Amino acid sequence: CGIIGGVGERNMVPVLLEGLSRLEYRGYDSAGLAVLGAGGLIRRRREGKVSALERDVDAEGVSGHTGIAHTRWATHGSPSEENAHPHMAADRVAVVHNGIIENHAELRADLEKAGYTFSSQTDSETIPCLIHQELAKGVELFAALRRVAQRLQGAYALAVVDAEDPGRIVGARKGSPLLLGVGVGEHFLASDAAALVPVTQELVDLGDGDFVELTGDGFTVTDIEGTPQEREIRTSHIRV
Ligand code: GLU
Repeated sequence: CGIIGGVGERNMVPVLLEGLSRLEYRGYDSAGLAVLGAGGLIRRRREGKVSALERDVDAEGVSGHTGIAHTRWATHGSPSEENAHPHMAADRVAVVHNGIIENHAELRADLEKAGYTFSSQTDSETIPCLIHQELAKGVELFAALRRVAQRLQGAYALAVVDAEDPGRIVGARKGSPLLLGVGVGEHFLASDAAALVPVTQELVDLGDGDFVELTGDGFTVTDIEGTPQEREIRTSHIRV
């Protein structure tokens, strides 16, 4: 399983698909992506191989300058299109998640009481709903993710986009790998350096408990309280 995300000027769809195929060796049962562009928020998911997702996305000419993508290794809910990531809330928030949310049943019950409906059997679908709940209160996206993380028990690597805030990705890591790629006017997130080498050699290893915000122009790493953290950029020696 794995995650990749990118934000910048270019169409990120080829970057996401190439990244997913470079994460294939980690094992997966389904794949999906969500991009923000002129067409708004577009999500495509497929059970099975990344090449099947690629065929659909290419045939439709899906594009966007901000995007997140996922290969899933099912832990909660069978391998299927409905259970594939990204998961969404209110057609606005899209999330990819690697890991396990242990208190998902309790979170889901609370969200259902608050009027959210679920379209998958995953633990992960609680996350976009919780983030949407914060956004609806007027909390901005990066702060919303940190607040939500206070309620999550378990392990996660996360990447999140908000259709009403294009040009931004926020992410977090606890117990699952995630690193940042620094490009020129573009930034990336991935589970593994191998997924990023086609686009950049400049990497930032995120620590456990790090939260990250990326735009085309820059990135910020904080702890769960929002306190900025210094993280060094290193040059990868892996070649394409
Ligand atoms: N627990 C999540 C699910 O079953 C994420 C699995 C993964 O890490 O790919 O959908």
